[in-house]
Amino acid sequence: MSKLFRNLPSMDQILVVLDADRDMVDLPRLLVKDLVNEFLDLCREEIRSGIITEQKQLALDALLPRLMAYVRSKSRPHFRRVLNATGVVIHTNLGRSLLAKSAIDAVVEACGHYSNCEFDLSTGKRGSRYSHVEKILCDITGAEAAVVVNNNAAAVFIMLETLAKGKEVVVSRGQLVEIGGSFRIPDVMSKSGAILKEVGATNRTHVHDYENAIGDSTGALMRVHTSNFRVVGFTKEVSLSELRELGDRYDLPVIEDLGSGTLYSLQGEGLVGEPTVQQVVADGADVVSFSGDKVLGGPQAGIIIGRKEYIDRIKSNQVLRAMRIDKMTLAALEATLRLYLDMDEARLKIPTLRMITASQEALKSKARRLADAIRGELGDTVIVGMKKGFSRVGGGAFPEYDLPGTMVTVVPKDISVGDLKEALLDTDPPLVARIEDDAFMLDPRTLASTELKLAASVLREAVTLLNKNQG
Ligand SMILES: *Cc1c(COP(=O)(O)O)cnc(C)c1O
Repeated sequence: MSKLFRNLPSMDQILVVLDADRDMVDLPRLLVKDLVNEFLDLCREEIRSGIITEQKQLALDALLPRLMAYVRSKSRPHFRRVLNATGVVIHTNLGRSLLAKSAIDAVVEACGHYSNCEFDLSTGKRGSRYSHVEKILCDITGAEAAVVVNNNAAAVFIMLETLAKGKEVVVSRGQLVEIGGSFRIPDVMSKSGAILKEVGATNRTHVHDYENAIGDSTGALMRVHTSNFRVVGFTKEVSLSELRELGDRYDLPVIEDLGSGTLYSLQGEGLVGEPTVQQVVADGADVVSFSGDKVLGGPQAGIIIGRKEYIDRIKSNQVLRAMRIDKMTLAALEATLRLYLDMDEARLKIPTLRMITASQEALKSKARRLADAIRGELGDTVIVGMKKGFSRVGGGAFPEYDLPGTMVTVVPKDISVGDLKEALLDTDPPLVARIEDDAFMLDPRTLASTELKLAASVLREAVTLLNKNQG
């Protein structure tokens, strides 16, 4: 055995070969050396455990394919593109919204050049970064003023910190939500210094519940979008107009955390029950917050709009600096918002809206192309089928609402579906999808047309690897 150890190729021998490979030559030297050492350690382990028993298994030529695959796989950047075949359009774990082409271009422009980020070109003096999107947000939503921060969690925090620190905020018990990743309304409120005053029951809250809770220490009335759940059955929520009326009577601001917030009305697409931001402003909310990367389909951001007196107070809060939006995000946000100046343009050019509103025919045709591509790559090693199924909007918008569409199912003949799902996490790029009724199920809604062939080819990569490991 000790002789086998001495037969391992040396680092220098290996580096000479790797340097001749076009893919490897651009990788940082230090990284390659580390990975080669890791690989050699794996070989030593295999000698010890009796997997490698012969000298010829250790010849450089014999080891090379595995070594190259190891270095290639481990040297990939940690942050990577993936193929989303889950059918969840706004998938928080997969990066939420994809940007429209014009927004991508704006980001590239903003980060490769100097800009008027905080420079007023009309005076040649210092300007405000918030000015770039304020007017367009007001034009689209009808609000008096606007300010943007890092994300909606930050927006909710700064609204409360500015308007209700040390005061009570009245919220319905049915709206004390937890958003994934430990964002809980009661906890955020306590961190902001506002005091939660819960009213009503889990399923029903009445106007008089809010009214009875109003006292000397009340700072605001608040509504929160329930986002990831729906209360059904014997329920009652107080409408924004009712709260507005109460706010006027007691001179209290009405705050609304819309969560996703949509600027494009999806009612025509059959997605009902979610008001647009424009409606919420028209119904009289004083301050409204929503995310930039949920249904809006832009970059991660927290957008706060509303009455000028309140937005001005938020703008002069020191905490704003700690949640400041960066220049690339601002560029992407402005470009996305510009598309909303023509709603048809918005629906066609913003990927999130395009995927949510895709027609049944378009989804079916895409499913057919995907199924054909998979059959082309994999032949009869798998059984490929199509069936009706459902996608989700995701991102806490339209909770529990099913979007009908056509799915592609793949059942491998010689390997398990579970193994296939796992192997697809290590393809280039990885592909994420669901298993349903013992079949691997791809939802073409969240794959771009240009990604169908790629999806089929990574499926082949995974199936080939699994069959080889098995054989
Ligand atoms: C998603 C959501 C948030 C958090 O928004 P982020 O953009 O993820 O920070 C806050 N409130 C509600 C109701 C939400 O749905």
